Amino acid sequence: MSTQNYQREYDVIVIGGGVLGAFHAYFAMCQGFKTLLIERNVFPQQASVRNFGLIIPSAMPAGRWRDRAIASCEIYSELSELLDVPLRRTGTQYLAHTEAEADFLKQMVLSSEDSLCPAEFYTAEETVRTSCCLNPEFCQGSLFFPDDLQLDPDQFFRAFINWIACTSDCDYLPNTTAISAEPQGGLSRVRTSAGREFEANHVFVCSGVDLQTLFPDVYVTRNLQYCKLQMLKLSNPENRTLGTSLASPIALTRYPAFLNAQFLQGISLPAPDPILQELGIQIWMTQNQNNEFILGDSHAYSADPPNEFLSAEVESQIIDYAKKMFVKLDFQVIDRWCGIYTEEQSAGLFQQTLDDRIHLITGIGGKGMTTGPGLARENISQLSLSKSRV
Ligand SMILES: Cc1cc2nc3c(=O)[nH]c(=O)nc-3n(C[C@H](O)[C@H](O)[C@H](O)COP(=O)(O)OP(=O)(O)OC[C@H]3O[C@@H](n4cnc5c(N)ncnc54)[C@H](O)[C@@H]3O)c2cc1C
Repeated sequence: MSTQNYQREYDVIVIGGGVLGAFHAYFAMCQGFKTLLIERNVFPQQASVRNFGLIIPSAMPAGRWRDRAIASCEIYSELSELLDVPLRRTGTQYLAHTEAEADFLKQMVLSSEDSLCPAEFYTAEETVRTSCCLNPEFCQGSLFFPDDLQLDPDQFFRAFINWIACTSDCDYLPNTTAISAEPQGGLSRVRTSAGREFEANHVFVCSGVDLQTLFPDVYVTRNLQYCKLQMLKLSNPENRTLGTSLASPIALTRYPAFLNAQFLQGISLPAPDPILQELGIQIWMTQNQNNEFILGDSHAYSADPPNEFLSAEVESQIIDYAKKMFVKLDFQVIDRWCGIYTEEQSAGLFQQTLDDRIHLITGIGGKGMTTGPGLARENISQLSLSKSRV
């Protein structure tokens, strides 16, 4: 890892090594821009490595975000080969619990000609047959998206950042907090908490939930909120295989792709129980590459940064709902954690450029793994600067 011999001047400096920062650095480097990636920890530790690792165009509405998701699938596929990190084509199965939900999903397939995001309707029997542990009494059918992907985010970002840092065009500065970024004589100057200074033509600030260290005044006036999610890991003593990632029917009333489809069909599926709504619970059950079950999640929104305490009430509501969906599972929790992201409430992304060269990017919400690489490629392709200034 190139943790020595940093230059003072770069073409591009990226602050934050989560999915947004790492991919902005990667594409800057691919364009031949001499790049510096600065990360507060040795490797990123926030939302980008605490998530399910789902890359799911199926949850994106057709249009710009779906296109970014599909572009991201291609980018991850290329990188997984290059880095020798597994990328699993697990697919996603969205479950129906009522006949109305099953009819809705069936109709979605019939009316959709989305060859970029193919889907198949499964009857109740077919759905139950595809998985080790679905409860036949819960399932009325499902919609299966075979092309959705999954990776282990922690494994991926360690390999990715190590690889980026070993290339000649990107330096990686870990364990370092950038404390200021400001225009300086036609460039931007970045200072770190260790007292180092760097300059670049362009600076990308991809600081995730840290809206306090850099430009707090800019963020405060924007439509940004925090969202805290709770996650669980369950043991799998009988080594069962889920086969695919499973989403509860709550997803049908939550994700834009399904809300748009309801609108087009002129229907409105009933909202989940008030307590589930209040806690923002949408059940996902996935499996990591060790075959452990990953179960989540909840969504607690706030205007101020949330703490990292875990709520027993949230955990028991998640498990109670999952027990309706699944049978034959041992619901023993072997790990629990939370993750926090920021969400821009109207556009689904906060992007602002200061002084033509400092780009603030955050607020991507719950779709950062799915769309971040595609977004980063777009942003970097729009950069114009002389390729080599050092
Ligand atoms: C529990 C959970 C499950 C999720 N599941 C999925 C999923 O399955 N699929 C999906 O598409 N999305 C999912 N998401 C959303 C996704 O994880 C986020 O959208 C994404 O990780 C946000 O990435 P980011 O780069 O903006 O932020 P972060 O991951 O928070 O990265 C920001 C980085 O910046 C660093 N940093 C901040 N300030 C500084 C500074 N001043 N100097 C140096 N470094 C700094 C931090 O240390 C951090 O590493 C999930 C999120 C959570 C919390």
